[in-house]
Amino acid sequence: MKRLFVISGSSGVGKGTIIKEFLAKHPKFKLSISCTTRSKRTGEIDGEHYHFITREEFQKGIKNNDFIEWAEFSGNYYGTRKSNIEQTLMDGSNLILEIETRGAMQIKEQLPEAVLIFIAPPSFEELKKRLEGRHTEDAEVIEKRLSQAEREEQASQKYDYIIVNDTIKNALNNLEKIVSKYATLD
Ligand code: 5GP
Repeated sequence: MKRLFVISGSSGVGKGTIIKEFLAKHPKFKLSISCTTRSKRTGEIDGEHYHFITREEFQKGIKNNDFIEWAEFSGNYYGTRKSNIEQTLMDGSNLILEIETRGAMQIKEQLPEAVLIFIAPPSFEELKKRLEGRHTEDAEVIEKRLSQAEREEQASQKYDYIIVNDTIKNALNNLEKIVSKYATLD
């Protein structure tokens, strides 16, 4: 049986970059593609970054029990389809889920062998700076995401591991160390 790794971290913490570099180095690991109701950001591709679906479609999915976990975050739904996970693990790949903390708790409950990793910013000020520098969200959205970041940091206490993202290189190194305890990297 292959392993499931759940990676969470506040928006702007750099988890996307770390995961992207990890996947480029270790192609045996696959990233689960989530469903979301939020609108596409510039450059995002449907079916690659997310499955972009409507609120109606998402609610239908909840009713049909299609999601192994889901949560509402910043006014939008995000969720992981069960079929996604089953197929990838059966194909013989280790799977990474990049999801927020409430979803991670739902995974841990159903799949206790999943490994939960939280990526934290070096400081709250640094996180604010990174979010503002990204120029992808307006001020109101940034405020919302910052208050969510505080809540998420509290949830991180329930994770198996916390990685502080001081530099991408260090964080990637630490991620590799953790993952290699449970799965062969290549
Ligand atoms: P973003 O809008 O920045 O792409 O994502 C917002 C948050 O939703 C991030 O914390 C991301 O990890 C989380 N997220 C993405 N996909 C899923 C999912 O399938 N389930 C849950 N619970 N959270 C998700």
